[in-house]
Amino acid sequence: MNRTDADNRQALTERFGSAINPALARVFRFMGIEAVESTGSGAVLVDEDGTEYIDCAGGYGVFSQGYRHPRIIAAAHRQLDSLPMSSRVLLNRPMIELAERLRELTPGDLQYSFFCNSGAEAVEAAVKFSRAATGRSRIISTLGAFHGKTLGALSVSGRDAYQKPFLPLLPDVVRVPFGDVRAVAEVLDSSVAAVIVEPIQGEGGIILPPDDYLPRLRELCDASGSMLIADEVQTGIGRTGRLFAIEHSGVIPDLLCLAKALGGGVVPIGAVVGRSAAWKLFEDRPLMHTSTFGGNPLACAVALEALAVTVQEKLPERAQLLGDQFLAGLRALSQRYPKLISEVRGRGLMIGVEVPAPGVGGALIAELFRRQVLAVYTLNNERVIRLMPPLVITSEQLDTVLQRLGAALAQLYEVADDLLAP
Ligand code: PLP
Repeated sequence: MNRTDADNRQALTERFGSAINPALARVFRFMGIEAVESTGSGAVLVDEDGTEYIDCAGGYGVFSQGYRHPRIIAAAHRQLDSLPMSSRVLLNRPMIELAERLRELTPGDLQYSFFCNSGAEAVEAAVKFSRAATGRSRIISTLGAFHGKTLGALSVSGRDAYQKPFLPLLPDVVRVPFGDVRAVAEVLDSSVAAVIVEPIQGEGGIILPPDDYLPRLRELCDASGSMLIADEVQTGIGRTGRLFAIEHSGVIPDLLCLAKALGGGVVPIGAVVGRSAAWKLFEDRPLMHTSTFGGNPLACAVALEALAVTVQEKLPERAQLLGDQFLAGLRALSQRYPKLISEVRGRGLMIGVEVPAPGVGGALIAELFRRQVLAVYTLNNERVIRLMPPLVITSEQLDTVLQRLGAALAQLYEVADDLLAP
């Protein structure tokens, strides 16, 4: 790296700070993360200097099929050359085909799809659909949950710090501890429109519920006539070893929220897939809930190809296999450095490394970055480093990550007492 490159990067961080977010620019600077992304392929992101990073952040779940998957990029080009945006007057073929494919691939009798542009929008839609279908207003959500940052999605999320400046939010939301069926049973009655839950809490710190949690929530919802909303924005499309994480439990939700990897790392798209009973709001008014860009042909054609790649390249199976290998390697490291790693947990390639103090996590992320591995915190739990590499990552790349993580831990071990000091 020559001086001009470093100056250029610092200048761009300044510009980010002055035009976008001064406080975040300070965080980048503090962590020494001042590289500028340029291109990527598979599990590797390349910066403007040509430095290659193995990406274990995976765009927070966006890059499951890898960076710029050739088939997905080709599908985008094809659609760009015919019709990227919809007239919204005539029928839109890619949207219909994507909805049919989702009906085939999702479990049970999930039938209809509504398309939008992000995870938060998918959650907004699911909450509205459940209220209209049941004629009830109360939503039960879980502490530590993350469902997005628009007002409705924020209202059902589970961390006070992100809610506080915007109060009052949507009324009639009750939050209970995640994984605790009894806590749900205590508040579930005939006023409840829906229970919204992530099959594995992502931003909450990669938290897996007990095996019987989702089946018992399903039973409780059936008994009270409430809907079960599965938020699979982060867990969906192969991440946990099944196409949808809810499949591990055999449960069929009334509404399933998708986004992130549905766009194949190429376009933004969100979707809600629902049982027919959840589509009641459209009966009298087919335009009761709409989105101008939702279901645009470009996004839908790309998502169709992303699903085809996910199924044909057996990415869920790959996530399971490589996830087991990665988890074993990480657990070995946690045994070698118990002072620095308190727990390793996850399913498939959705993995969390819990550290004893946020300072350890920050130092570890910075050390990994210096060794050209990208990792990030979970948003609602700063003591957990999330490892969610593209599912196309190779076994050799995962070994390299383990070696570099080992070297980072060895280095931090020297200063562990300082990092752990309150
Ligand atoms: N739901 C879950 C489970 C998520 O993890 C996220 C984002 O991380 C969202 C919803 C919100 O998605 P978006 O950022 O696309 O609005």
